[in-house]
Amino acid sequence: MTADIIPHTSTEAHQPSWQEELATAIRNPAALLKILELDPSQLDSSTAAQQAWSIRVPLSYVQRMSKGDIDDPLLNQVLPLGAEMLSAPGFSSDPLGEEDANPVPGVVHKYHGRALLIISPACAIHCRYCFRRHFPYEDNTLGKSEWQAALDYLANDESISEVIYSGGDPLAANDNFLLWITEQIAAIPHINRLRIHTRLPLVIPSRINQSCLHWLTATRLKVVMVWHVNHPNEIDQAVTQAAQTLKRRGIELLNQSVLLKQVNDSTQTLVALSEQLFEAGILPYYIHRLDKVAGAAHFNVSDERIQQLQQELLALLPGYLVPRFVCEQAGAHAKLALPSPKMDIA
Ligand code: SF4
Repeated sequence: MTADIIPHTSTEAHQPSWQEELATAIRNPAALLKILELDPSQLDSSTAAQQAWSIRVPLSYVQRMSKGDIDDPLLNQVLPLGAEMLSAPGFSSDPLGEEDANPVPGVVHKYHGRALLIISPACAIHCRYCFRRHFPYEDNTLGKSEWQAALDYLANDESISEVIYSGGDPLAANDNFLLWITEQIAAIPHINRLRIHTRLPLVIPSRINQSCLHWLTATRLKVVMVWHVNHPNEIDQAVTQAAQTLKRRGIELLNQSVLLKQVNDSTQTLVALSEQLFEAGILPYYIHRLDKVAGAAHFNVSDERIQQLQQELLALLPGYLVPRFVCEQAGAHAKLALPSPKMDIA
């Protein structure tokens, strides 16, 4: 069932800062359902899931959900469910083996040529399918004075030409820190590119403000921002404006989605997602098979369905709008391409 989209409040006099939006994020499932005019009895015994990992969803994201629709694809990404507490074969707390690729605190180094920094343990939104929902952030959260070992690690490995800001969400860190750490990295001669994986400009588009644009554009590093958009309903006018602002400043914009049951596992949704991303200036790049993290098995899409979706997207979209279907595997040297469907060639 679908009802009215909640109207935006963007024309009201006070425009909250991104920090204010974070501070007023919904932290209670019943409060979220109340805003959406849904019956809290539909919470499906989610108390344990909420205690295991709390809900967090900013109002600007809630405004893109449909009132009265318990199956809303944005709501499905954030609402704790009892199903998260069920164990499932093959699902674990560290599906990508990152604990074995953590050479010094704050650094994850899995692949040749690039290393990832845990810039911030915080996120603007808690996505129930997150593969780092059990990550030991307590061992990888560094104060400014504690970054030297990580910077030394990057400086001592000349094979690293790209640094990836991750988390949590790296844009949850403040801009003074991001300016400082970016300057430290740019001072290492063999590092040429900075890649930023984030959901913050999608969830709270006002995050792309002047101080953010300053450090993004003041660096000699080539900057690539990878958005994590899963559904076309996530893209509204404010999101499009934020993306276009970044694009005008020379930031390369790519998207990676996670394929999620009852969120985006339909051809129509994925076609609309690719088209809307491209309209916003973001290239649809990857679709990830779900990482098998404990608590997320109910989001899993079967291999047969993935093949079918690939085939249908190839038939309906120009090649540059068909994202690559990939997965990650613990210990592998790169992301792995998922098997391509067999196409009939006329
Ligand atoms: S790290 Fe990304 S996917 Fe995980 S909760 Fe944060 S924003 Fe969501």
